[in-house]
Amino acid sequence: PADQEDPDPRKKTLVVLGTGWGSVSLLKKLDTENYNVVVISPRNYFLFTPLLPSCTTGTIEHRSIMEPIRNFLRHKKAAVRYYEAEATKIDYEKRVIYVNDESEVKGSTSATEVPFDLLVVGVGAENATFGIPGVREHGCFLKEVFDAQKIRKRIMDCVETATFKDQPLEEVRRLLHMVVVGGGPTGVEFAGELQDFFENDLRKWIPEIANNFHVTLVEALPSVLPMFSKQLVDYTEQTFKEETIDIRTKTMVKNVTETYIEAEHTDPSGNKVLERIPYGLLVWATGNAVRPVVKDLMDQLPAQKDSRRGLAVNEYLVVKGTDNVWAVGDCAVANYAPTAQVASQEGAFLARLFNQVAKTEQIEQELAVLSEEQGTAQKDARDEALSKIKDLQKRLRRTKAMGPFEYSHQGSLAYIGSEKAVADISWLTGNVASGGQLTYFFWRSAYLSMCFSTRNRILVCMDWLKTQVFGRDVSRE
Ligand code: FAD
Ligand code: NAD
Repeated sequence: PADQEDPDPRKKTLVVLGTGWGSVSLLKKLDTENYNVVVISPRNYFLFTPLLPSCTTGTIEHRSIMEPIRNFLRHKKAAVRYYEAEATKIDYEKRVIYVNDESEVKGSTSATEVPFDLLVVGVGAENATFGIPGVREHGCFLKEVFDAQKIRKRIMDCVETATFKDQPLEEVRRLLHMVVVGGGPTGVEFAGELQDFFENDLRKWIPEIANNFHVTLVEALPSVLPMFSKQLVDYTEQTFKEETIDIRTKTMVKNVTETYIEAEHTDPSGNKVLERIPYGLLVWATGNAVRPVVKDLMDQLPAQKDSRRGLAVNEYLVVKGTDNVWAVGDCAVANYAPTAQVASQEGAFLARLFNQVAKTEQIEQELAVLSEEQGTAQKDARDEALSKIKDLQKRLRRTKAMGPFEYSHQGSLAYIGSEKAVADISWLTGNVASGGQLTYFFWRSAYLSMCFSTRNRILVCMDWLKTQVFGRDVSRE
């Protein structure tokens, strides 16, 4: 098309898939002048996921934690092309990505292909269901903005339906039973936010639900938050008890219907008991699974045959079995937890790597020209060229000396409700574990400082203030 500039034929085409933590961190630091950069993602914004649980109850409005990718890309030195589309297949042999516009409005072209020289896969992961029947049909996930919006509507629908005239008591109890499956940080933070919503707002605004509203957290393992230290796990479980959130550990959900879940509980003597737990809202937070587009790429590469959880990468984040594909974040398996912290450090590392490679290539070209000139030049010019060559060789050694990716763990933080948080922070040589209200203020300030932009930071602060002054909005959109 006439209005689209052709890619510069002297530069390689670098395609980046996704606009999440890994990809955006790469794009932030990448010198876009060195490549024809193309970004492909169905989401035209970056989402600050650590504050997503707060959007399910309206503590924070979702737009406060979104940053348009266009807004950010327009500040790059050289233009970056963005396509709002999903990569449906990566053909490694052909070096082509097949993309589809899955949005509601479609032009006469909604499926096409994008060639690449270099590719960064940062498509994240999808929600794990372990093939348990009924989860996709009846449960709500918590990964994207639309998930948080769906949960927010569903909470209020349950509350309003429970107060419907002549509703039988048993049905009222079911509708007001909020069940969260998965005791990882997503499930714990959501349960805490939901209990806050009830205690601070719902209880006052709709007092008739006060005796029957109840939050239950179901976890298959013997305790919640397995990645936190024992002391903080105990603190979280004690705090949940005080908040009257029920924790059902050693309880593995096996089946989900429209109105109840079936779970197998292992009692203290080791017997397995099958239970039916009725629910009004079911939030499913049992971790990550590999996206189909990633699985398909893995199937094309023999070196990936033993990998299960995502694309196995080497210490430079190169996808094993390739020489021009890298992976970052939740879709990559580099022996780190699938967190935003890891994804953003990986993205920043790749940006440095690509910037260095471009610099190296530039120096090598300059060296080739100088060596040729030096061969034919007069003595004086030859000496000058020789000293320039030595300088360039020194610079080349420096740029080529980039070490492999090393993750630096800053710590783990989680909100657990009633203005309390838990934190395992890496501090000098050791680990500092803390929980309570002070940690909550630390949690707030840490996440505020990590927000994508000043605009996000101001919006989040205003939302916190608004919630404090007026309470959360209970209208169902
Ligand atoms: P994502 O951020 O998920 O981004 C993936 C991107 O790829 C998205 O833009 C998506 O639209 C795009 N995409 C998807 N499919 C395709 C496709 N086929 N083609 C092209 N693009 C595609 N981690 C922490 O460290 N601290 C926290 O406090 C924290 N809190 C969290 C709270 C919640 C509720 C959740 C769900 C996660 C939280 N995490 C946290 C984990 C963190 O969000 C993830 O580890 C992180 O998002 C991974 O980054 P990523 O770039 O790999 O993937
Ligand atoms: P997770 O993988 O951390 O936890 C999922 C939990 O679900 C596990 O404890 C598992 O035992 C349980 N589970 C699985 N199947 C079950 C079943 N059938 N019945 C009952 N329980 C079942 O998942 P998550 O909480 O979504 O987190 C995903 C990633 O994102 C993690 O790496 C996490 O560290 C990161 N994250 C971090 C934060 C934070 O730092 N505050 C917040 C959210 C997510």
